[in-house]
Amino acid sequence: MTERLLQDGVLAVTPVVVHLCTRCDHMTSTVAHACRACGHQGSRPLTRQMLVWDRSPGTPLLGRDDFHAHRAKQPGHLLTIAQNVPERLILSRTRDHGISLAPLGLDGLVLDPRAGVHIAVLAAARHGAERPVMTLTENAAANVAAYGAPFRRHDGTRLRYALHGRIPYDDAAALQRLCEVHRVSPAQRELFLAWFLPLCSLHLRAGITAAQLPALLKFWRRAHLDRPDTPGSDGLAELRRRIAAGDMRWVMDVTLLSRIIPDYLPTDGFIKEPEGAT
Ligand SMILES: [Zn+2]
Repeated sequence: MTERLLQDGVLAVTPVVVHLCTRCDHMTSTVAHACRACGHQGSRPLTRQMLVWDRSPGTPLLGRDDFHAHRAKQPGHLLTIAQNVPERLILSRTRDHGISLAPLGLDGLVLDPRAGVHIAVLAAARHGAERPVMTLTENAAANVAAYGAPFRRHDGTRLRYALHGRIPYDDAAALQRLCEVHRVSPAQRELFLAWFLPLCSLHLRAGITAAQLPALLKFWRRAHLDRPDTPGSDGLAELRRRIAAGDMRWVMDVTLLSRIIPDYLPTDGFIKEPEGAT
């Protein structure tokens, strides 16, 4: 992708003055500031070849249609943040890990991971996803969206973002206790944590608080009990329409939710469709 963007003149390899930490050689940026790798204050300027994206003024970095969300939920302030990044973005970094840019003559440099993460999602999407959607928090989107702008379209595939709120997984002990108190089976707990809460976080974009967990667990148990005896296609068309429109309110509809709860957590990330569903 990077090579093609270079050939098309979207990206360029050009000499740039950057600052290197005088203690660990980590590249800080085009302006001198404390090293993000070791905290050292001192830096020295160095001119070296870098992979850059110079966009012409007025090029939109992020539009409403870059989000998989219904209109009322689109993040206006993210669009504003994206417009405030510099006109030149440097896409090569000194880092231990990443996609090596040595084939482009940039020895020791890797592609900025804020760009690379988009490529990773598109690569995963090649396994059958026609409309890939990358889930991330608003903070993460504010950090990576500008760097992803040249990388969100590839070979007719377009990558969109879906924003989700934070899930309080770090409060695992409290969650564990909660499940014990409510006599939630280990299998049900696994589905609650790894299937229901992620879906919930796409709806509760301001984040899920630890205080909300008891009510969510109660709701989840009710939906679990309401599961139909025989799986069918009732309501699936409606559900599909809502998901395609980026409308996640259905997660809080106990009837709709109960129809699609899987029996177990699939390890390959794909939920099997109920038998007979089309
Ligand atoms: Zn350093």
